[in-house]
Amino acid sequence: MQRLTFSNITAILPDRLMEDAWVVCEKGKIVSVSRKRPKVEAAEVIDGRGGYLAPGFIDIHVHGGDGADFMDGKSEAVRVACRAHARHGTTTIFPTTTTGSPEQIHAMLDAVKTVQAEKQAQNGARIAGVHLYGPFFAEDKVGCHSAAGRREPTAVEYRAYFESGLVRIATCAAELPGAVEFYREAKKRRCLITCGHSNASWPEMAAAFKAGMRHVDHFWCAMSNVASVRSRLGVPMRGSMLEFVLGTADMSTEVIADGCHLAPELLEFAFRLKGPRKLCLVTDANRALDLPPGNYRFGAAEDGSWFESDGRVGWAPGRTSLASSIVGMDHMVRQMKRDTSATLPEVVRMASLTPAELTGIAKHTGSLEAGKNADVVLLSRKLEVRRVFIGGVEMAL
Ligand SMILES: [Zn+2]
Ligand SMILES: [Zn+2]
Repeated sequence: MQRLTFSNITAILPDRLMEDAWVVCEKGKIVSVSRKRPKVEAAEVIDGRGGYLAPGFIDIHVHGGDGADFMDGKSEAVRVACRAHARHGTTTIFPTTTTGSPEQIHAMLDAVKTVQAEKQAQNGARIAGVHLYGPFFAEDKVGCHSAAGRREPTAVEYRAYFESGLVRIATCAAELPGAVEFYREAKKRRCLITCGHSNASWPEMAAAFKAGMRHVDHFWCAMSNVASVRSRLGVPMRGSMLEFVLGTADMSTEVIADGCHLAPELLEFAFRLKGPRKLCLVTDANRALDLPPGNYRFGAAEDGSWFESDGRVGWAPGRTSLASSIVGMDHMVRQMKRDTSATLPEVVRMASLTPAELTGIAKHTGSLEAGKNADVVLLSRKLEVRRVFIGGVEMAL
């Protein structure tokens, strides 16, 4: 594999910007990041034209794109979605399940396994594992997912998913019967364990934490607050997921920074309270990413619930609530930079190194450091994606 040297760039490191940097990659790995001009042949130099070089983005919560949903259960759908997200700077992806039948979830796992095994650079973002997200949601917090595909966790069902060896992130609503056993099993499998689509109280979160839960999906979306816990459990008013996450240093979370789900003050608040090491940017994007406005299915093509894309965001029928995002990680990075006081290295960290650390892959990817995969993105000064490299191989955008 050829040697690549990036020049005329500002490198975005986890803790600072390095201007006039030279980044050398060889055999798919980064070999040096420095301000000293290395000995290079002109032919192998990539001119960054004064833009930024960022580590490739890592998306831990994503449903699909460019017409495909991972739950379509077809290997071609997996490739289409992974390529679509690579065009937006995502180089590592965790395909995410929705609610659905066990057969649909197994079909998704099989399709992901097939594509992962192909190890084809032009398949797009690398698959680092699956996020088992649906079906173990609380009935009153199903959100835009198909309610028929929601259920309570049983060991027989989830053990079969874990047996695939693919599940690296595991979600379950903490108040469901069997949730603690689910978390214990996920902990044995060394997953990032998360509570989502849940109306859990603080004591339920505390029990989940004891069993290994450390993360909450899309903060403020489909999660409990004091008022929602009061309507479920009555008085006295009780702590919710929100207080538990903000009050517990070891808890991490994620935001959908598309500019439609959360106002700037909520993005700023999440950043101030959790900081760049415990807050991730996720796309939560669905199949309408890069497609024109219209009606689409969320989840499997045959029976997923319908939603409407207006070209900016997904809406549940009747436009009373949102139904996940339709933009890529580059958009989230620009929005977070614009809407919050986070510095550019902090914003990029939340889209790369932080999700890598939480999912246990930071040894291999997530930052511009010698020894890591040459998963890098050339950005313009306006943070628009110009070129994307995965393992040193340039993606056709
Ligand atoms: Zn969700
Ligand atoms: Zn989602």
